[in-house]
Amino acid sequence: MNETRSSEQVAGPLADRFGRVATDLRVSLTDRCNLRCTYCMPEEGLAWLPRQQQLTDDEVVRLVRVAVERLGVTEVRFTGGEPLIRRGLVGIVAATAQLAPRPRVSITTNGIGLSRIAAPLRAAGLDRVNVSLDTLDPARFLSLTRRDRHDDVLHGLRAAASAGLTPVKINTVLMRGINEDEAPALLRFALSYGYQLRFIEQMPLDAQHRWDRHTMVTADEILAALAPFDLRPDPVSRGTAPAETWLVPGHVDAAGEPARVGVIGSVTRPFCGDCARTRLTADGQVRNCLFATEESDLRKLVRDGAADEEIASAWQAAMWGKRAGHGIDDPAFLQPARPMSAIGG
Ligand code: SAM
Ligand code: SF4
Repeated sequence: MNETRSSEQVAGPLADRFGRVATDLRVSLTDRCNLRCTYCMPEEGLAWLPRQQQLTDDEVVRLVRVAVERLGVTEVRFTGGEPLIRRGLVGIVAATAQLAPRPRVSITTNGIGLSRIAAPLRAAGLDRVNVSLDTLDPARFLSLTRRDRHDDVLHGLRAAASAGLTPVKINTVLMRGINEDEAPALLRFALSYGYQLRFIEQMPLDAQHRWDRHTMVTADEILAALAPFDLRPDPVSRGTAPAETWLVPGHVDAAGEPARVGVIGSVTRPFCGDCARTRLTADGQVRNCLFATEESDLRKLVRDGAADEEIASAWQAAMWGKRAGHGIDDPAFLQPARPMSAIGG
């Protein structure tokens, strides 16, 4: 159970007992997806949320508005599942970008369909995009995602850059014996187009529960593979960002800034002490951590006619109970019941 919170204890709008304040909201717009990445979903997909359990576009916008106007959220990222398959996406982005104070608005996507929708999203007020790409090889892409859509992702990346959704970031998960040899090639690819590449350690969030610490490619191994680039420490502070970043000497990004590469070492270099995230699932549950085993139901409050203050205070209570760390190293660690695709990565 969440530890009981009294109003005197709360130090900030979305504060927790360890002094962290969440300002970065991840909103999952759907648990469905048009890919089946092996580290995320089984081949046959999952039992999708029934439509009536999913928040409507208006309900999503209402909750995002409460977060921004009343709870100090300054960054909103839409994710999923695959957010580009949500029909109302452009309208949701437009409504979010019109909030005051205006939050930064971004999307994490697999890039399929981005070539068509990048410009409308930009016009609606989207600031940035992260596109997931784990390989430069179409055959590997097919075996990794179980869909033959490599070209669509590359087109999506280019469209995002042309639409000005910059800096375009690429998320890559390396897997031992599958694509771990591609780290240098992926970085060369990103540098040549001015994209910013970030490697993410594979986490125990797959629906199949097959994650194995011993096969995970670690941050140290990723950095060793990038040794030929002679990476330099980034003088810009990481703040609450999950990625540790390095400068890549001799390269600049699309904006003429020094090129950077990031590593998100969620497992071997946890950043829980600086976490500024709060999460909302597609069915309106607040999660205070990716690895939380409890959720707080905001959809019920919304559908029961709760006022904004009531929703805000339920959200605060949910965040107050956030644990100090994800506990993956704890022998009693339990993988959350929802997989990554249903939480919103
Ligand atoms: N479908 C979109 C996409 O793939 O970008 C958004 C949702 S996806 C769950 C968000 C990110 O989580 C992707 O970059 C994906 O590679 C990453 N991801 C999924 N499962 C993961 C896992 N088990 N460990 C680490 N990252 C994972
Ligand atoms: Fe879909 Fe993203 Fe999961 Fe891949 S990582 S199956 S694209 S939700």
